[in-house]
This record gives sequence, structure tokens and C-alpha cells, in this order.
Amino acid sequence: MKPAEGKVLRRGRVLRTKLSHGTHRQGAATLKILLTEAQVQEGVRRMAAEISAFYGDRPLTIVGVLTGSVVLLADIIRLLGMPLRVSVVQARSYRGASTVRGELMINSDLLPDLTGCDVLVVDDIFDTGHTLFELLNKMQNLGPRSIRSAVLLRKRGRQEMTREPDYCAFEIPDEFVVGYGLDYNDHYRNLPYIGALEAAEIEAGKNS
Ligand code: 5GP
Ligand code: MG
Repeated sequence: MKPAEGKVLRRGRVLRTKLSHGTHRQGAATLKILLTEAQVQEGVRRMAAEISAFYGDRPLTIVGVLTGSVVLLADIIRLLGMPLRVSVVQARSYRGASTVRGELMINSDLLPDLTGCDVLVVDDIFDTGHTLFELLNKMQNLGPRSIRSAVLLRKRGRQEMTREPDYCAFEIPDEFVVGYGLDYNDHYRNLPYIGALEAAEIEAGKNS
């Protein structure tokens, strides 16, 4: 079988990246490695460079979407040199052992005053796009000067919204992925790579 390939998005250019790196056992589950730790780190560095080039020395408020963005947030803020304010907002669309989108819950209690600020919302993955764009619409009402978005991953062929994230490190096939902040039932967030969970593992998780 031909190895899977993903796209690395770079300023409108599409680069091919190998998306198949064997498997890794994690407890009872076997994960298929889609992006290695080195590939993820390279993608984050590339995205940080694009963000730095766009904002220059302008002060920026970066808002991570809990909980999936925590690892990306921690890495990317250390690659940005402009005056930076770091904050979080909570959005949940999956509940427990489910891989289908549930009703979206947004908790913006932790947000600072965004009036007149340049805001960058950082999330783990752009799937249908509903989460990010409901969130951006809600935050738009808080009076920021500008609002943009950055995601680590985008799933191919899944988007239901017309607006795209402004920054995206990788486009991946439509598989349920975990690692680097992404979870299944709050597990696997600590893995330094991006792995796909097999359907059988997801089924087994539902009964555990
Ligand atoms: P959307 O609203 O774009 O369909 O879904 C986005 C949210 O669903 C993401 O922020 C993420 O929390 C979750 N999500 C979507 N696809 C996946 C996936 O493959 N793995 C994990 N762990 N979460 C996902
Ligand atoms: Mg999320």
C-alpha cells in the first residue's frame, strides 16, 4: 500500500509531507504515527515564523482554546518575540468517549479585556470549523482591533464553514487523531507526536 501523504501548508504553497511512520503502543492501544515529534516541532516553528512576520513588533493577545491547544500554546508562545499577553478560553464539543461532535459549550470567563487588541486564537485542530468560528464570532463582540486564528491541524474534506484559519501547520486525512494536546477521553494529550486511533481502539474505549 502506498504510504499516506499529508500537506504542509506554507503561505499558500502546498508541500508534501510523509504521513506514515509505523505504529506505537500506548497502554492497551496501538497508535498509527501520522506526524513524528520532529515534524510537529518543525510545523510549529514554521507557523510561529509566519505569525511573527505578520504582526512584527505589534503587541498581541494570544488565546488558547482549552484543553486541546495547551501543548501548542506552550510551544508557540516561546517562539514569538513581540509583547505578548497569553490567555485561554474553554470550548468543548466532544464529550467523554465520543468522536462525533456534540453541542458546543463555550466558557469565556477566563478571557481578559480584548477591546482594541490584536487577538490570535490558537486551537489544536480544524475539523468542520464550527468550534473555531462560533468562538471567533463570540469574541468579535468583545471589540478586538483584529482577530485571527491558528491551528496545528486541518482535516481534509471536512470543512463546513466558508472561513479558513489564517495559519495552519498541516492538513491531514479524515482520521481521529490524538497526541500533542489532542485527546481521546482526556488520554494521550502528552504524546509528543500525532497518532491516529484505530476504529477498534475507539470502540474498546467506549466500553472502558
Ligand atoms: P470542529 O468544530 O471544527 O468540527 O471540531 C473542532 C474540535 O473538535 C477541535 O477543537 C477538537 O477539540 C475536536 N476534534 C476534531 N477532530 C478531532 C480529532 O481527530 N481528534 C481529537 N482528539 N479531537 C478532535
Ligand atoms: Mg478543541
